[in-house]
Amino acid sequence: MKTNKDDLRNTGYAYTIPLGRAGRLHADSLKKHIDSETFHYKQWPVTFVSPVKINQYKAEYTNTSGALSYTLAISVSNNEVHVICDCDRKVEMLCHHAYGALKYLITTGGEEYFLELGKILQTKKDTP
Ligand SMILES: [Zn+2]
Repeated sequence: MKTNKDDLRNTGYAYTIPLGRAGRLHADSLKKHIDSETFHYKQWPVTFVSPVKINQYKAEYTNTSGALSYTLAISVSNNEVHVICDCDRKVEMLCHHAYGALKYLITTGGEEYFLELGKILQTKKDTP
C-alpha cells in the first residue's frame, strides 16, 4: 500500500525515537526509523555534524554532506529523542539527512550519546 502524501510528516515536526535500556540507541534500532525506500535510494554521507547551539530545550547541529547543509535539532526527554530537520520534506519517518546525522552521532559518540545529551540539556534547565 502506498502511503498518501498528505499523511506524511513534515520534517519540521519532531519525529520521536524511543531509547532502549539505559538510554542507549543502537544502530540497528535506528534503522527501524527510516522507511525502506528512503534508506535504499537516498544517501547522506555525512561530512560532519557539529553542535552550533544548545539551550534548555534542544541542541542544534549543522548537518553537512559535501556542499549541502541542513540544521538538525534534537531534544531528549523521558528516554525519547525528538528530531527535527529543516529540509522541509514530507517523509514517513526520518529523512535521510536526520538518519545520516544520528548514525554519525552514535558511531562517533557512542550508543549513550543521547543519554549524555539529555543530561546536558537537563543541566541547562536547572540553571536559572
Ligand atoms: Zn532532512
